Amino acid sequence: MISGWWGSVNWHPMELWGARLYGNPCRDCGFDWSLTPREALGQVEDLPARYGALVKGRRGDERHPDLAWNVAAYVSHVTDNLRNWAERLAGARLAGTRQVPGYDQDLLAQARFYNDVSLAGALWSLRWAADAWVTSVSAALEEGVALEHADRGVQRAEDVARNNAHDAAHHAWDIERILAHAARTRGMHGSEVVRRSNAPHLPDPSGD
Ligand SMILES: [Zn+2]
Repeated sequence: MISGWWGSVNWHPMELWGARLYGNPCRDCGFDWSLTPREALGQVEDLPARYGALVKGRRGDERHPDLAWNVAAYVSHVTDNLRNWAERLAGARLAGTRQVPGYDQDLLAQARFYNDVSLAGALWSLRWAADAWVTSVSAALEEGVALEHADRGVQRAEDVARNNAHDAAHHAWDIERILAHAARTRGMHGSEVVRRSNAPHLPDPSGD
C-alpha cells in the first residue's frame, strides 16, 4: 500500500487511452495495437494516399446521423491531431519541454469550422502534416523522447506513434461509415438526404 497516494490533492484519475480505451484490436476499427513504432510510421506515411483513395470523387460534406463531423471535417481533425503531436514531440526533443496538456478537439473543430473546410484543401493539408509528423516522430523515436501528459501520464514517442496511427485508422473507418450511409440513403430516396446531429464523435475529451 502506498500511503498518502490516494489522499493527495494533486491526484486525479488518469484518462484512459490507447488499447485500454478502445480494446485490442480496436472494437470499432479493428486496429491492432501490437504494431511496431516503425509500422505506425509507415501507416502515417501512407495516410495521404489512403485518404485520397477513400474520398476520391466525393464532395466532403457527406454526413452520418450519429456523427457531428462530415467527411472533410474528419480529414481536418486527423491533420490537426498529427500537427499537434508532432509539434509536442519536437518541443520535447529540441528544448526539453516534456509537460503537455490535453487539447480540446471539439473546440478546435468549432474554431476552424471543420464542416466547412474544402475537401481538396483538407487533403492538401494532410499531406504536409503527415510528412512533418514522420520527420518529427522518427527523430523522437531515435532519441527516446517521452512526454508527460497532464491527463495520461508518460507518453513515449512510440505511444504517440501508435495513438496517432490509430486515430487516422479509426477516422478512416468513420469516413467509410459516412460514405456507406450516404450510398444507402441515395438508394432509398433517389437523392442523398443530409441529416444533422450534434452527437459527439468520440468519448475522449483531451485530443487523440
Ligand atoms: Zn479504432
